[in-house]
Amino acid sequence: MELLSTLSKMPAFLNEQVEYLLTTDNDFIKINPLVGQQINILFTNEKYCSSCGNQFQDLFRMGFCKTCFFESPMAGESIIRPELSTAHEDIADRDLDFEKKLQLQPHVVYLAASGGLKVGVTRKTQVPTRWIDQGASAAIVLAKTTNRYEAGMIEVALKDHVSDKTVWQRMLKNEDNDYDLLAEKERLAPFVPENLNQFVTEDNNITHLKFPVNSYPTKVKSINLDKTPEINAVLQGVRGQYLIFEGGASLNVRAHTGYRVKISV
Ligand SMILES: [Zn+2]
Repeated sequence: MELLSTLSKMPAFLNEQVEYLLTTDNDFIKINPLVGQQINILFTNEKYCSSCGNQFQDLFRMGFCKTCFFESPMAGESIIRPELSTAHEDIADRDLDFEKKLQLQPHVVYLAASGGLKVGVTRKTQVPTRWIDQGASAAIVLAKTTNRYEAGMIEVALKDHVSDKTVWQRMLKNEDNDYDLLAEKERLAPFVPENLNQFVTEDNNITHLKFPVNSYPTKVKSINLDKTPEINAVLQGVRGQYLIFEGGASLNVRAHTGYRVKISV
C-alpha cells in the first residue's frame, strides 16, 4: 500500500489503549495495526504551511510559514503562553473573535507524567487528547477554570515547583511510571494563588494511558526529515506524537507538520 500525506498532528483516541490515525490525502489510516511492520517514509521535499496552505522552501515554526506564524491567531501569544490571554478583558492579540472563542471556555490545569512530572494547561474539550499528544502515562486534573487566563496564571504559579516541559527522551523510554500524582497534587495545590483557589478541583480521578508500543527503546534519537529524508524500518510503537522505530530512532510527526511524504507499508 502506498499513500501520500501532508503530515499533521495524528488524531488519537483513548480506548483500552491509545488508537492513532494518520491523515492521508483522501482518507486516514489506522496506525496501531502497523506496529511490528516494516514501513517506508519518504520526504518528497515539499512543505506546505498549515494555515495558508501555500508551498514554501522552508516553514518557520509550528508548521506555519513566517507570515502566518506572526499573523495567524492560531499562533498567537496565548497559544503557547496561556497567561498572556487577554480576551477576558476584551483586548485583542490578533483576532478578538477567534481569541474569545478559544480563551473564554472552561480550561483545566493538569499534572501529567510524561517523561518527568509536568504541569500543563488545556481546554477542557482537549482532555484526554492533550495528554495523549504529550505521551503521558498518567494525568490528574488539578484545577478547572472558566477561561484560559485563569488557568495560565495557576500554571505560572506552579512552574516554580514543577516543570512545564515534556522530557521526550524519557517519555519515549517509558521512564515515567513512578509518580504518585495524587500526592503531587496535594503537594502543589497550596501554591495556587489565593484568588484562584476556588478553581482547585476535588476530582482526584487519575487517567492512565497505554500506548501501542511493542518494546520501548533504551536509547532514543530524534529523526529530522530535512537531514534524513527516508526512513525504512520496523515500527516499534507510537507514543505522544512520535513514531518509534527499531533501534530507537523516533519521528515527531507533529513537529513535521506540513511536510509532504510518501508512505509505503
Ligand atoms: Zn502560511
